[in-house]
Amino acid sequence: MCHFNVMHAYLALAILTLEFESSTIVLITIGTVNIMISLKRQLPKIELHSHLDGSVRPSTAAEIAEEEGIELNCSDLRELTERMTAPPSCTSLVEYLERFELPLLLMQSRAALKRIAYETAEDAALENVRYLEVRFAPQLHTGRGLSIDEIVGAVAEGLSAAEAKYGHTVRIILVCMRHHAQADNEEVVRAASRLAGLGVVGVDLAGDEAGYPNELHEEVFGLANQLGLPITIHAGEAAGACSIRCAVEKLHARRIGHGVRLREDAELLQLMSEQRIPLEMCVISNVQTKAVPSMESHPIREYLDGGLAVTVNTDNPTVSATNQTREYENLARRFRFTERDFMKVAENGIEAAFADGELKGRLRAQFRQEWRELGLVGSGEAGESRA
Ligand SMILES: [Zn+2]
Repeated sequence: MCHFNVMHAYLALAILTLEFESSTIVLITIGTVNIMISLKRQLPKIELHSHLDGSVRPSTAAEIAEEEGIELNCSDLRELTERMTAPPSCTSLVEYLERFELPLLLMQSRAALKRIAYETAEDAALENVRYLEVRFAPQLHTGRGLSIDEIVGAVAEGLSAAEAKYGHTVRIILVCMRHHAQADNEEVVRAASRLAGLGVVGVDLAGDEAGYPNELHEEVFGLANQLGLPITIHAGEAAGACSIRCAVEKLHARRIGHGVRLREDAELLQLMSEQRIPLEMCVISNVQTKAVPSMESHPIREYLDGGLAVTVNTDNPTVSATNQTREYENLARRFRFTERDFMKVAENGIEAAFADGELKGRLRAQFRQEWRELGLVGSGEAGESRA
């Protein structure tokens, strides 16, 4: 697939935005050839919440198993895909998390980690994600003797190769697991601090939120805070708003993963809005894990309109059978998101990124430029939206 900006550097393009059966199509003319591409795909995007082990292509899983002699007991690629993808409606977050067992079996060598990291960053680039934070729990990849430094090094190599090819920016968040011992999680936090040079920009807490609540992890994230690491915490997904409050007040969370159940506490919602604490929302995943009873009851529209710093994310492209474009299409169809909403979400994403001011400034300029090329803003400031 041609990469839009690369094409743009070498060829004269004519871009026309059309409304077609209530969805926007971008018509790109290259010479005498017209290409119709959905505007949702063309919009520049930010992805802040993407798990590496939830992003493994099934075809890659099959090839790694073959190369490394790992028996998966699957008859064909279709069965393998089914085992790596959660049903549209799981009974709980725990059932959803079972879909990670197979990919984790295959993510125990440097070569496998490097390849999966490269492909995860590549898949995001093809959805026009311009800035990506990929997260993974290094302690889940030590099964065949790799050290944490070797694991992060292999992932960083794969991500750097994809950055070099596609020109986007990819950073790493290291994940502490709720069911792991405190000493193991502290080792992850120290590694995150030590490995900033490999692109590690923060730490997270993931796993069974209901079974292992935030209160158990105060010391680990106290250490992360002391070391100056930006912190995001999965909260308000499988537990209530009190889990979000604890993440903010006791675990020093600068962002919240999901935060679906924030509306249960109006005072906290107000505080999060005033303090601009971003929510990494993953709508398709949230419906699967029963964080919300149905798509219609997801609060993303209410939160965005209420002034919360909402961002749009995939969580797990393979496990949730999604990608950024599908998330955008779902939001447009089910929640009436307009181009203006998508631009707001992207601005929120840049603001929320664990990135320095210089990189954020570059991303803002790049997004304005792409919005102008897509005819979404005038030639003046980015705020002059026509949407
Ligand atoms: Zn997650």
